[in-house]
Amino acid sequence: MERYDSIIIGGGLGGLTAGAKLAKEGKRVLLIESADEVGGCARTFTREGLTIEASLHEIDGLDEGDFKRRIFSDLGVFGEVEFVAVPEFYRFIGARSDFIVPFSAGEANKAFKSVFPKEGKAIDAFFSRLAGIRRDIKKLYRGNSGWKDTLLLPLYPFVYPDLTAGVRLTVGGFLDKITKNEELKLALAANVQYYGDDPYALSLLYFALAQGSFYAGGGHFIKGGSQKLSDKLALIIRANGGSVLTNHKATNVLMEKGSAAGVRYEDKVNKRAFEAYGATVIANAAVPTVVNEILPPGAAPPGFSRTINKLKPSCSLLTVHVGFKKPPTTLGSRAYTTFVYDKINKLTEVGSFQHGGFDRRPFAFVDYGSIDSGLSPGKMTMGAVTTVDYLSDWEGLAEGEYRIKKEGAAQTLIKRLGAIAPGLAGEVGFYEVSTPRTILRYTGNPHGSVHGFAQTPEQSGMKRVQIKAPVERLYFASAWSFPGGGFTGAVMGGYLAALEALKDIG
Ligand SMILES: Cc1cc2nc3c(=O)[nH]c(=O)nc-3n(C[C@H](O)[C@H](O)[C@H](O)COP(=O)(O)OP(=O)(O)OC[C@H]3O[C@@H](n4cnc5c(N)ncnc54)[C@H](O)[C@@H]3O)c2cc1C
Repeated sequence: MERYDSIIIGGGLGGLTAGAKLAKEGKRVLLIESADEVGGCARTFTREGLTIEASLHEIDGLDEGDFKRRIFSDLGVFGEVEFVAVPEFYRFIGARSDFIVPFSAGEANKAFKSVFPKEGKAIDAFFSRLAGIRRDIKKLYRGNSGWKDTLLLPLYPFVYPDLTAGVRLTVGGFLDKITKNEELKLALAANVQYYGDDPYALSLLYFALAQGSFYAGGGHFIKGGSQKLSDKLALIIRANGGSVLTNHKATNVLMEKGSAAGVRYEDKVNKRAFEAYGATVIANAAVPTVVNEILPPGAAPPGFSRTINKLKPSCSLLTVHVGFKKPPTTLGSRAYTTFVYDKINKLTEVGSFQHGGFDRRPFAFVDYGSIDSGLSPGKMTMGAVTTVDYLSDWEGLAEGEYRIKKEGAAQTLIKRLGAIAPGLAGEVGFYEVSTPRTILRYTGNPHGSVHGFAQTPEQSGMKRVQIKAPVERLYFASAWSFPGGGFTGAVMGGYLAALEALKDIG
């Protein structure tokens, strides 16, 4: 029987990062991935000779103060994986304004003030609160060993005023406090789909940390697509003596004396079952799946699965992957990412419009051709049109109905590209739609969720499902656990899970 120091269930970024760190520390790692390639959301695929990015628009930060930079340096990712800087944060197209938001907080502050000259105080308050929350968190968090100053908890509002507001408020609630200008609110929170669906449900703390990271370090794309990062992390595991099995699905965590002690898994191609034993088990698969399907009944303390099943999952996304015959920049597109809110007048409408027709839902357009993205060079210029979406809207459809609905969504969204540049829709030479059903199929994430549990004030930060599971020698490392989703969250969660597991492995 095979014995490992750690067995990892799932080869998304959380699982791959945990595996790479443990393997580099000389530990024996087995990573089990259900799909035919590693990466989970962080993958590329090929259609008609075109390389299509499945998920990544941009990664935040990577500046000197960003913990991810330390992680990637430690693992030896830099150099072999090329991070291409994105020139500006986003172009905002609202019902009444159309302007570019630059990356540095100072420049962005000026850009907002030039469009909303009477809103200087509100704009200063916005950037000052983002910076304050990031500062407070840096003071308070001691990395994987936990939080400092917990004894000061009752005094938090006085000692850490920005952090306290971040924990308590939603983004919408905060914006309502600083301004009555609805167009400004929409513009400040335009990229809400990076973190969730509704600004009035999104934790200000989570938003401030991620958004602040974009304003501090900018955004980056991975040259050639996110599969390059996933493949590099898998290579680190293999090069350090570990094994990465694709097309293998973990079915059960094996228990010994109340501790996680191994994994039963099946070879999906040859239909054979195996067991492997390990000192620790790290679950990159979704927390609800682990709790409801992979852990044996009674392994977790009573109440834990009840708590998990009450938590709210995040939204999913729909993407129309597009190939253009001419570069969008030659037709008038003037940013890498554009957020279109042309049918929305108030921030309170965002949540309900995400559930509405594709003819009025806010969307993001990414022009991969406007940077040296390495996607399909010399063929077509690749782009992506992405909206918030929900698996429930796509369930129960017969195959024919599903195809018709996908086609309708694609046609409506492609037509709306006219808001970005008049001739853009006419230059589409290829398109393919990924729905929440696609995301469910490739990642197994319940509800096709892309951010794990929704980042509401009740489910964020210190209140998020922790990396150390309430089962000895079991850890969570995914968008569903601390700190959360996105490339940054998954990579950080994986690295922190590896540090925790190292304590048990010895
Ligand atoms: C369209 C789209 C756009 C996005 N854009 C961005 C962006 O611009 N920037 C950003 O930062 N983030 C973005 N994200 C979010 C980001 O990609 C995810 O939050 C992150 O990659 C999730 O990583 P994860 O570690 O939780 O694993 P996941 O990607 O969820 O992968 C989990 C893996 O576990 C495997 N698995 C599950 N169950 C089992 C089992 N029983 N046995 C074996 N394997 C199993 C799955 O096959 C999968 O490979 C986007 C996501 C999508 C879908």
